[in-house]
Amino acid sequence: MKTYRFDDPAFTLEEREEAIRALAERFRAASTIVFLTGAGASTESGIPDFRSPTGIYATASASLFEIDRFYEDPEAFYREYAPFYRKMREAKPNAGHKAIADLERRGGKRVEVVTQNIDGLHARAGSSATWEVHGTIRTATCVACGRRREESEFSADVMSGRAPRCECGGVFKPDVTFFGEELPAQAFAGAQRAMWEAKLLVIAGTSLQVYPAAGLPRECDAGTPFVIINATPTDLDFQSSLVYRAKIGEVLPAAVSAALGVE
Ligand code: NAD
Repeated sequence: MKTYRFDDPAFTLEEREEAIRALAERFRAASTIVFLTGAGASTESGIPDFRSPTGIYATASASLFEIDRFYEDPEAFYREYAPFYRKMREAKPNAGHKAIADLERRGGKRVEVVTQNIDGLHARAGSSATWEVHGTIRTATCVACGRRREESEFSADVMSGRAPRCECGGVFKPDVTFFGEELPAQAFAGAQRAMWEAKLLVIAGTSLQVYPAAGLPRECDAGTPFVIINATPTDLDFQSSLVYRAKIGEVLPAAVSAALGVE
């Protein structure tokens, strides 16, 4: 394992160049690259993560996304969810999302993205094979009759902190996986298949604390190298070939440009 400490004030320009070159070489060498991303992939778009010191858990209650609480009091959920939802709606793909999409579009590789994020920003950036294993804020389903709605039909209510209601009287629940719910089966199966086929796994912006998503890297072939790009240490650092203790925006765009030969 090689660790590049971008967060160390003593980290030199030469070390940075070596770090970027090392990742670019991995990108060039692999035919199928899979990214496993988490909330840290979207902090540079202005969406807070959960567990950083400035994350959601520093202000909102840790039980926000608990399914029992949602059913007990959907109105209270939507009041607390509104500021978080507004931030996600306003957010735009950042340089990290765009670099992943570029690698797919211009790199001539198979690139798949398995994301725990619910904000839809990988797809907006142009990644075509995106597995949203914790669902999405972009659609919602009526808990009474199962009718599904697109964002344009419920976003005004949600932005102003009201629970959107169906014609049948039921409340809409965001198609996000709450704690206590099963993961969407199709997305999770797609994510597992992506792991099996990965020739390089890049884990970026996730604390790897939320299962079963955090267990997905174990589905990879024993020989598949892991690269971790995360601001703080994770439990998989010791199993990774390269570890970048860095912001995604400091590493991915430069490494993708170098791999594509457009420095
Ligand atoms: P997490 O908050 O547990 O971990 C985020 C990790 O990213 C932390 O280890 C942090 O150090 C790191 N990080 C933050 N900014 C970074 C950056 N710019 N570059 C590199 N690393 C950075 O998030 P998680 O592991 O994804 O798990 C939390 C759950 O919360 C997930 O299920 C996810 O669905 C959900 N969530 C999603 C969003 C979103 O869709 N944008 C936002 C918050 C939470």
